Formats: sequence, C-alpha cells, structure tokens
Amino acid sequence: MPEAVLIVFSFLIGAVVGSFLNVCVHRLPRGMLLHRPPSHCPFCNEAVRWYDNVPVASYLALGRRCRCCGIRISPRYAVLELVTGAMFAYITWRLTRGMDVDYVRLGVYVAVATALAAASFVDIECRIIPDEISPPGTLLAPVVALVWPHLLLSQGRDHLIVGPLAGLLGATPASHPHLCSLMTSVAGIAAGFVVVWALGVMGRLIFRKEAMGFGDVKLMAFVGGFVGWRLVLMTIMVGACFGAVVGLVSMARSRDTRMPFGPYLSLGALVAMLHAGDVVRLFERYAAAVAGAH
Ligand SMILES: [Zn+2]
Repeated sequence: MPEAVLIVFSFLIGAVVGSFLNVCVHRLPRGMLLHRPPSHCPFCNEAVRWYDNVPVASYLALGRRCRCCGIRISPRYAVLELVTGAMFAYITWRLTRGMDVDYVRLGVYVAVATALAAASFVDIECRIIPDEISPPGTLLAPVVALVWPHLLLSQGRDHLIVGPLAGLLGATPASHPHLCSLMTSVAGIAAGFVVVWALGVMGRLIFRKEAMGFGDVKLMAFVGGFVGWRLVLMTIMVGACFGAVVGLVSMARSRDTRMPFGPYLSLGALVAMLHAGDVVRLFERYAAAVAGAH
C-alpha cells in the first residue's frame, strides 16, 4: 500500500518539523536566534543530545524530564510534534486521493499549515503572534499566486472570485490567469486585514475588552493571501464556531480559560483550504432545512 506509506512518511516528516517549531515557539517571542545556540535545557543549560531529541519518543522515554537536572519538560514539546505530524498526514491524505496529485498545492498547504501551527502555539503561550511569521507570509502569498494561478482560481465560480476590478480591466481567469490569481490574493490580504480589524473594533465597542488584537489582523491578512477573499469569510466563520464551542465548554466548567483567537483562525483556515466545498454543502443543507420548516 504505497498510499499508507506516503501518509506515515508525511507524519514522520511533520513530527520532525514540529520539533523545529518547538525551537521557534520558545525562541521567537524571546527575540533569540533560531540557529544558535544548539538545543539546550533552559534550566540547567545542558545541551540536548541527538538521541534525546527524537520527536515524541524522547519525551516519553525520558519520563517527561530533563536527563541532566530532572526539571519537567513542558508537554507542549510532544503536543506540537504530534499536531504537526497529524496535520502533515491529514493534508497529504486529503490531497493525494485521485489520479492527478497536485504536489504544488500539497507543498504550499503544508508550508502554510506549518506557519499557522507555529503562530498558534506562540499565541497560546505568550498571547502574541511574532512578526517573523505573518508579514513575510503575506509578502510571499501574491508571489505564489502569480506563479501558480491554479491554486486560487480552481476553487469556484471564476467571475465571483476575481471580482469587479478584473472585470473593469477586461481580464478573465481564462484569458489572464496569472493576473487574476494575483488580484485574488491581494484582495484576500485586504479582506483579511479589514474584516478582522473591523471585528476587533466592534468587539471593543460592544464588550469593552480586547477581543482581537493586531496580531490576529496580520495573521488573517497572511491567510487571505493564500485562500483568496471569498474564503476569508469562511475562515473567520469556521474559526468563530470553534471558538464558540470551546468557549461554551470552558464556561460550563466555570473556568476562565480565555484562549487567544489565533489558533481558531488557523483551524478555520485549514478547514477553508481543505474542506471549502463540504462547508458550503453543510450550510446549504442547513438553509434548506430551515426553509423547509416554514
Ligand atoms: Zn536540565
């Protein structure tokens, strides 16, 4: 079964990438360099040996403690490795079914998911999204859209995606795919930025507390550049649903576990990238059921 082998292989690659993300999550918000010094215990400064750096397995083998000083290692190390591995495996499974496997899409989606995982885990730990992730991603998105127009233009009704501006220029996805894809990406960046910023302003007016920070605004601009402006709205809607479910559960347990919004936006982005058609079908079925009830 070559397909199962491919998925297990992507899980292992993802776990190794997750191990590197742990370094990023620890060092980026602290303004430390990523490549120096080599991995070490933050408590006793002892360098981590290569055989203690195997994703997940070392964490379990060491009994969740540093080999040298015995201090507890945060479970985040194993969790992020597992999450990244699972993400790689799922994206690979989702995009390699069928005959024509789109390896460009697979590579781009895996890279975007990796950035989102890093942003989310820093957001959970430090309540910030480091500027090493969103702004470079936002600059890269239009370039990717320009080079590979099929990533953005294959996802739906073309005239809707490109919007009125392309119509004014007389460009269609069939006649000018690269231009239309570039405009879709730039429109996605603008939509992500404006919508989350407006939601944040409204949240402050209504709830009189910080609902969404500028880190979320920048993160959504980055996501918008890769999913296009139509899926920006789906990303925010799906993210808000995840947030509402978790919020209700934590309220029922009468615990104030206020989560930052970055991880929900990231989850919403993954759903929009991989399951946009399923979300639309679910919504249509719901709308038909509501209409049928009247
Ligand atoms: Zn130690």
